[in-house]
Amino acid sequence: MAATDNSAEELIPGSKTYKKIDPPDVQQLGASSWSLLHSIAAKYPKTPSETQQKEMSQFLNIFSHIYPCNWCAADFEKYIRENAPKVSSREELGRWMCDAHNKVNVKLGKPKFNCDFWEKRWKDGWDE
Ligand code: FAD
Repeated sequence: MAATDNSAEELIPGSKTYKKIDPPDVQQLGASSWSLLHSIAAKYPKTPSETQQKEMSQFLNIFSHIYPCNWCAADFEKYIRENAPKVSSREELGRWMCDAHNKVNVKLGKPKFNCDFWEKRWKDGWDE
């Protein structure tokens, strides 16, 4: 599927000037980042190799160091220290990610997501 190209829409019609779209705030950054993280889990192999498991653990560790919201990163890093990422299968990683997201949901006073549905939300889609 072709990627969507929004760059033309971001130009003021008839000019070469960009609309003043602000950098993402913590909410926008968070929603985009969770999309990326859950989608990564959805595409992770069902039976990953040793190398794939090591790389996933490294990625999540590095992600928690560089996430561009300092207090979010600090809490995520602590969560990873206390709850090592489960990388031995797609199912385990998907549920681990869902639990990690729920930890943040609870902290922010949002409802928990039912992790039995993580694959429908992020991989297979919902039944009609
Ligand atoms: P989001 O929480 O971004 O969720 C996006 C979508 O994911 C939802 O619409 C839902 O369909 C689905 N979803 C929700 N929960 C789950 C789940 N458990 N498993 C699978 N799918 C789910 N914000 C702060 O203010 N303080 C913080 O400390 C903070 N820490 C963060 C740490 C990380 C690592 C990340 C990625 C984000 C963090 N955020 C933090 C941002 C916050 O989690 C939300 O992304 C943000 O508040 C926007 O929320 P939202 O309502 O758009 O939905």
